[in-house]
Amino acid sequence: MALDWKETDKLAERVNYWIDRAAALKESDLYFFNQPIDELNGNAHAMVRGRKMLMFASYSYLGLLGHPRINAAAKQAIDDYGTGTHGVRLLAGTLKLHEQLEETIANFKHTEAAITFSSGYVTNLTAVSTLVGRRDTVICDKLNHASIVDGCLLSGAKFARFKHNDMQDLERALQKADSSGVKLVVVDAVFSMDGDVINLPAIMELCRKYRAWLMVDEAHSIGVLGQRGRGIEEHFGLGNVIDIKMGTLSKTIPSVGGYLAGPQNLIQMFKHASRAFIFSAALPPAQAAAARAAFEVILDEPDRVETLTRNAKHFSDGLRQIGFDTMLTTTAIVPVLCGEDERAYRMVQKCQQQDVFVLPVVSPAVPPGLARLRSTVTAGHTPQDIERALDVFETAGRQTGVI
Ligand SMILES: *Cc1c(COP(=O)(O)O)cnc(C)c1O
Repeated sequence: MALDWKETDKLAERVNYWIDRAAALKESDLYFFNQPIDELNGNAHAMVRGRKMLMFASYSYLGLLGHPRINAAAKQAIDDYGTGTHGVRLLAGTLKLHEQLEETIANFKHTEAAITFSSGYVTNLTAVSTLVGRRDTVICDKLNHASIVDGCLLSGAKFARFKHNDMQDLERALQKADSSGVKLVVVDAVFSMDGDVINLPAIMELCRKYRAWLMVDEAHSIGVLGQRGRGIEEHFGLGNVIDIKMGTLSKTIPSVGGYLAGPQNLIQMFKHASRAFIFSAALPPAQAAAARAAFEVILDEPDRVETLTRNAKHFSDGLRQIGFDTMLTTTAIVPVLCGEDERAYRMVQKCQQQDVFVLPVVSPAVPPGLARLRSTVTAGHTPQDIERALDVFETAGRQTGVI
């Protein structure tokens, strides 16, 4: 049945708010949402609206999209199993490929076991809501990813937040948490809008002191942090200190899906009790095989991680020398602070006109007045690509008054 579409209807108001906002941006040629990419040309370039653009908005941090070995694994999986599964994992959906992938992830993360889900978003949703419920407390960094926030809300647990990367504020939240219930601390390893790294050594100590469980989202840490790209524990030279390690298969890993890695018993519990595992279909064969091959490639081709680290430094240092504010980043996510939303849109427009593909992040994704370009650098860029992007950013920055 169609909606009763009245002018005064509350839902109509909500719909119109978004339509009007988009229309206003389109009118001034500042609408950059969902631009289709026609074709990828290696990892540093893409065809967009018929123009070859230098890509500075990709999460394919190690340049693995299109890697021959990963593509071959996906093709083989289609030949062996077809394009879908028989449904959820508990019924006929589990393939040998899923078990191999989970074993590979567990080895990569130095844990006993791992479990996969059909997206990173759903992984966080189901992880938090399986681990905690009413009477428990979940404590988050204020800049945690939306999927963690949604998991906390879904769980029904008491939801406390601490100031970004502020360990005193975390301690205060831990002291306040009710000790009769479970205490769970959840943080991003690398923050997706800011590019800075969580203070894992301090958090680990606090979690021990207050007997809290620790879950870390490594969406932007896998392949990025640590000498071999194994993630945040390797970065800090720590052993296996995170209780629940979460990651996605859609960024550095050129597939789709999410995983949790941890102790065998915990993973077994997820396999029997997490709703996203029980009530949603298994990863398709090609995606599972691609993901597994990608983890192997990361370990077999360690130069990629080195190149990424070098490129991230080259790009960030370059931007700072030009006079841009790159906030607190120390990774491949490089925010370029613009201020008002409008200014960020204009920066993007100027960059794209010069065939550098970057995208804005505006409110409500970030606080008003802190709109930025969220540029990303990858191992697929050459030093020349980075120099060219720096030139384009500089010109755009001067034209828009950002610098
Ligand atoms: C992208 C992202 C997710 C969600 O992963 P998808 O696989 O895209 O659903 C979760 N957490 C963080 C920090 C992310 O950046």
